[in-house]
Amino acid sequence: MIPPKKIQMVDLHNQYLRIKPEIDRAIQLVLDSTSFVRGSQVEAFEKSFTDFHDGAFAISCGNGTDALQVAMMALDFKPGDEVILPVFNYAANAEVLALLGLNPVFVEVEPTTFNIDANLIEAKITAKTKAIVPVHLFGQCANMEAILEIAKKHKLHVIEDYAQAIGAVYSFADGTKKKAGTIGTVGCTSFFPSKNLGCFGDGGALVTTDKVLAEKIKMIANHGQRVKYHHEIIGVNSRLDTLQAAVLDVKLKFLNEYEQKRNTVATFYDAALANVSFLETPLRSKSSTHVFHQYTLKLKGIKRESFKAYLYNNGIPSMVYYPVPLHLQKAYKIDGLGEGSFPISEDLSGRVLSLPMHTEMDEEQLLYICEVIKSYQG
Ligand SMILES: *Cc1c(COP(=O)(O)O)cnc(C)c1O
Repeated sequence: MIPPKKIQMVDLHNQYLRIKPEIDRAIQLVLDSTSFVRGSQVEAFEKSFTDFHDGAFAISCGNGTDALQVAMMALDFKPGDEVILPVFNYAANAEVLALLGLNPVFVEVEPTTFNIDANLIEAKITAKTKAIVPVHLFGQCANMEAILEIAKKHKLHVIEDYAQAIGAVYSFADGTKKKAGTIGTVGCTSFFPSKNLGCFGDGGALVTTDKVLAEKIKMIANHGQRVKYHHEIIGVNSRLDTLQAAVLDVKLKFLNEYEQKRNTVATFYDAALANVSFLETPLRSKSSTHVFHQYTLKLKGIKRESFKAYLYNNGIPSMVYYPVPLHLQKAYKIDGLGEGSFPISEDLSGRVLSLPMHTEMDEEQLLYICEVIKSYQG
């Protein structure tokens, strides 16, 4: 079959074209000012980002991985300290732990939400545990109610990696609602171009409701200085470019609309693929809204590579997030944790498949994709 028009995993070009005049104007202002680092647009964007997060302090930085590193540096973790994280995950947080000499403690995920299984966290806590890093995978929050309770009981920090869940809202049993990133001690996110709020290069940010921590984070992200050339603590060089801040301040205004579009796409897929025997559509958590960074299927009883090739041959891209859980990654292997240690994550890695998901998809494309999927003969 031939697609109605080119189908992409993400369509950043058409997203740009819809807001081109405003984006171009914002970029031109930066070019005219030549204030490429720490220009006024950076502070303006941080203010907008604070407003978006219901008043939590926002500090921008170079990328999402740096945000995680700066967070861990600001919380004074020492080499040998342990940090708990999900094993079915992107590598960024394991990488940062390794660079800081911290020990990752992997926890299995829930097969339904792909997020860390909070019931399995307490058994992994030792005297050296300093923090839990819930990664809100694919667009919905982990079980934060349970995670906060455990953290409180054991006096642990909670560092939310919400690079895939910006704008997701978590509801607690008592009715309180909080935005992803503002629930734990500190939240770390990324503005990589394909993220739900993407800039035109690398970018990242941290948010926290703790004013003292926010000040320290700000210093660390800028060479450990409050006043230029006066270095109080060891920091890093991780700044958001003025150009990226200008782009983000424009795009942030459209984030709610982008989230709605992603949900429209997801709802279409849900309905059209509900009765397809060889796949499961993603489950929506009861306590979190879903911002659908990815729309991830679990395949059943078919060969992923054959199905992926079939889609490709019909003009439909698809991606595997993630093909290898952290404990089986060469760089992050831990003695005694071989194959079979995390059966759910290993199983998911073998049969997940993410479909095209972005803000520019139209009904014609969706109908076509679902028709092709339903015609698969195995
Ligand atoms: C993208 C991503 C990161 C890292 O962000 P970068 O800006 O690419 O460094 C971290 N964690 C998760 C879950 C991500 O999806």
